[in-house]
Amino acid sequence: MKLARFDDNRIGIVRDDDIIDVTDVVDGRPGEWPPVAMNRLIANFAEFRGKLETAARGKGKPLGTVKLLTPVPWPNKIIAYPVNYHEHGIEMGSSYRANNQGFFFKPPSALSGPSDPIILPVNAARRIDHECELAIVISKQGRDIARDDCRDYVFGFSCLIDAVIRGKEERVTRKGFDTFCPVGPWIVTADEVGDASQHLQGRLWVNGELKQNANTRDLILDIPAMIEMASSVMTLYPGDIIAAGTPAGVGPIRHGDKVKIEFERVGSMTLDVIQGESGKYSIFALPLPAESKP
Ligand code: MN
Repeated sequence: MKLARFDDNRIGIVRDDDIIDVTDVVDGRPGEWPPVAMNRLIANFAEFRGKLETAARGKGKPLGTVKLLTPVPWPNKIIAYPVNYHEHGIEMGSSYRANNQGFFFKPPSALSGPSDPIILPVNAARRIDHECELAIVISKQGRDIARDDCRDYVFGFSCLIDAVIRGKEERVTRKGFDTFCPVGPWIVTADEVGDASQHLQGRLWVNGELKQNANTRDLILDIPAMIEMASSVMTLYPGDIIAAGTPAGVGPIRHGDKVKIEFERVGSMTLDVIQGESGKYSIFALPLPAESKP
């Protein structure tokens, strides 16, 4: 099942070319704040599933007539793994890997959706890069989750771009700008992907040119290992997002670019990159320190 959020926080099931509004079926509340309808749906999915499958046979409206939004706008947290592909570690000259470095956070306020642009901060004198990552959406609350149990904690998958200003400052400062975490275009539930999640091809293009092209089979920490590590530190909650880490091929995005991300069995989305008017007083007006690699 492909579950999307659209228009004013409505919930829908996406089929080939259309979307069925199931907002009422899942106790959705358009316009609510905080927007947690998808969190409720994920937490209570077993209860809703039968009704959703019935609704999925109904009449939809053309996908092109709605505005798709990021599927989980209010996760408890976004966990992200740095250097989780060897080839990316090599291109960055990194001395560490995700398995010995641990993870970091991106702020939920950085989330944006498939209809939103990536907005560049106004004064960045640094390279701002794309990173093509699989998003893993957590299904239920858990702590100290054993590797063998991880499958029960994966609700589904989405595409995620981990945008970043290069440098040595704290990651959350460089990766936390509004719109620096596009996720979408929807969540594909884990049952539709199954064990294939361990070998999904992910690709990213800038202006039609293929920049990143890698398979999740080459992750250093695989999906169970990421869940095991994160949940050893903190409780995971329904709707939490894990960004699996980028493969090699990261590169700059600039005003006017179109960035397309795709994961097989999941979907794709194409985003505009535009110059914004915020971020004026940040440290990033200074050039990249000489000791830093881009
Ligand atoms: Mn990343």
